[in-house]
Amino acid sequence: MAVKVAVIGAGAAGLFAAAQLLRRGISVDIYERNDRVGKKLSITGKGRCNLTNKCTPAQVFENVVTNPKFLFSAINSFTPDDTIEYFERLGVPTKEERGRRVFPQSDRAADVVKALEKDVTSRGGNIRLNTRVLAVNRLGAKAEAIYEGGSERYDCVVVATGGASYKGTGSTGDGYSFAKALGNKIITPRAALVPIYLKEDVTSLAGLSLKNVTATISSPGRADISMFGEMLFMHRGVSGPIILSLSSLCAGRVNERGEFSSASLLIDLKPALDEEKLDRRIVRDLSEGHTKAIKNVLPALMPKSLIPFVLKQAGISPERRACDVTARERESLVATVKRLNFTPSHLGGIDEGIITSGGVDVKQIDPRDCKDKLADNIYFIGEVLDVDALTGGYNLQIAFSTAYICARGIAERYNSAQ
Ligand SMILES: Cc1cc2nc3c(=O)[nH]c(=O)nc-3n(C[C@H](O)[C@H](O)[C@H](O)COP(=O)(O)OP(=O)(O)OC[C@H]3O[C@@H](n4cnc5c(N)ncnc54)[C@H](O)[C@@H]3O)c2cc1C
Repeated sequence: MAVKVAVIGAGAAGLFAAAQLLRRGISVDIYERNDRVGKKLSITGKGRCNLTNKCTPAQVFENVVTNPKFLFSAINSFTPDDTIEYFERLGVPTKEERGRRVFPQSDRAADVVKALEKDVTSRGGNIRLNTRVLAVNRLGAKAEAIYEGGSERYDCVVVATGGASYKGTGSTGDGYSFAKALGNKIITPRAALVPIYLKEDVTSLAGLSLKNVTATISSPGRADISMFGEMLFMHRGVSGPIILSLSSLCAGRVNERGEFSSASLLIDLKPALDEEKLDRRIVRDLSEGHTKAIKNVLPALMPKSLIPFVLKQAGISPERRACDVTARERESLVATVKRLNFTPSHLGGIDEGIITSGGVDVKQIDPRDCKDKLADNIYFIGEVLDVDALTGGYNLQIAFSTAYICARGIAERYNSAQ
């Protein structure tokens, strides 16, 4: 009799696992609580979907924040190159951007979702939309999915319900309760890749994007953590790729509510210039500006909206004439441009997290195929697991790689034709 598997959740991991199972001749029902598949996937990468990172498995591990060792088999079995090849074959040509980030050439996440959905449906996968699974049980050598209005038996159930952030996309943490009921430990879910809120009023900076800057979180008694790249000011804090990544490295610097006790966010606005070069550049700008107020000279060096913050921290009046600026004031200006200082107050909450850190404890999951060691025919893949990575396409790669080894493991287990 044909092997039958239920996949719970039609996100990145669930759709890809289903496609891989179907490819191996296994029949699949996918349960999705939403009225469409891939709701979160369709908003990834600001609607462009950074689907992986063109790097080696070793470089993936360097960017995994939680439990990189668990992912060793998964990432080595299905690598970033495999992801690119898979999507190219499905008719989604890709392109590489800054930081080796890979996107569809069309810049449309919707194309990635459509391609995955077609790979599933064209192979006979049965997608049950608007069907929320309420529990997953083990029944001897079988497993059971209980959903609103019924239940069904399967050879295996694959839980791909995602994390607990961006709940509007359908990932509300249901997989955690399934795992808990089976006896698994859940590592307390918390937001990762979140904005950092600031104590200062930065409303006037909202929308300002800074490219090629270095942001550093500095806390007493701890090594500084720095990232180079792009960041963005919001009404009450900061976000953008380097801030999101920094936020994931703040464990131990915040309390359980995500509040910083004592820390600074230092922004180097000109990382390419050392203090000496920067001073020479400022001397030149000031002498060219000569009779102008300094606030009207600095736009050559930095965005206009930042000038009041920089001058205030440097202790220089915005109206001071360029020719009157003293060597000491210039020194203070250089120091401020290299270390513009803000005070982090807290990390964004779980619903603002691009991903969830925490989840099903990987100690109880077999790293070779993502099988639950406590429930032989139940598997957990993707973000529901206690794994998370920095920005750059690594999180989707984790979803695809864990889905791949799971499908391969189920197929090998039931001796299906490859
Ligand atoms: C705004 C945003 C941008 C992002 N951009 C990127 C990016 O560019 N690159 C990158 O690598 N990562 C990105 N991520 C992270 C990435 O989207 C996730 O890591 C990835 O989607 C996880 O895949 P998953 O399949 O495990 O979970 P999900 O994609 O969350 O899918 C889970 C699915 O399960 C369904 N579900 C949940 N519970 C049930 C239930 N009880 N019954 C039935 N169905 C259920 C949900 O509705 C959902 O469709 C981004 C995340 C966000 C929020």
